[in-house]
Amino acid sequence: MTETVIPRPAAAELVVRGLQARFPVRRIYCVGRNYAEHAREMGASGREAPFFFCKPADAILNVAQGAEGVFPYPPATADLHHEIELVVALGAGGRDLSPEQAQACIWGYAIGLDMTRRDLQAQAKRAGRPWEAGKAFDHAAPIGPLHPVDQVGLLAAGAITLSVNDQPRQSGDLSNMIWSVPEAIASLSTLFELQAGDLIFTGTPAGVGAVVPGDHLEGTIAGLGTLRLRIA
Ligand code: MN
Repeated sequence: MTETVIPRPAAAELVVRGLQARFPVRRIYCVGRNYAEHAREMGASGREAPFFFCKPADAILNVAQGAEGVFPYPPATADLHHEIELVVALGAGGRDLSPEQAQACIWGYAIGLDMTRRDLQAQAKRAGRPWEAGKAFDHAAPIGPLHPVDQVGLLAAGAITLSVNDQPRQSGDLSNMIWSVPEAIASLSTLFELQAGDLIFTGTPAGVGAVVPGDHLEGTIAGLGTLRLRIA
């Protein structure tokens, strides 16, 4: 490797279920308001075209299979929200993909949490400013192990849930996405050239809410097991 003038930052990667090899991460894209009920709870009609934002790849907090991840409560917020989401990992990419081509780029799936400093996001929305302070902070992307599509098949339906301290908070079905995973990837590929290593958070069902230090979160997606996280 080329010599560097400062220590090389750690490369972002995901643990892959059942394999020693890791999945190297290039970019993290997120789809906004992709379940109608959540869009309505955020004040939209539930029928808007998809829109996207990013988190930095180094915001990933890897949570091992069967373990409870530890999420440090972030600074500068009094309203930290959970958003349970299906994360799609791309093994190939391209531009202006059709939904069929987009589907063929899927390498695997994981359970992710789009952690959000909702108060900072709301301030940014009101001021017409960018969302990074609300969405792209350190550790803002806890993710469980990646499940290869050749093991779990394509996921288009199935329950997606989140509970906090054993109380149900979010509950939906992957089939209730406004824009299906292939449609969302295809739309994203008209804006950016997608590449192997890109992750896409595909949106959250209704029921988002605040968590505080000491809370235990448990997220599930049918076929992908359970993601456990403690707020520290
Ligand atoms: Mn989200």
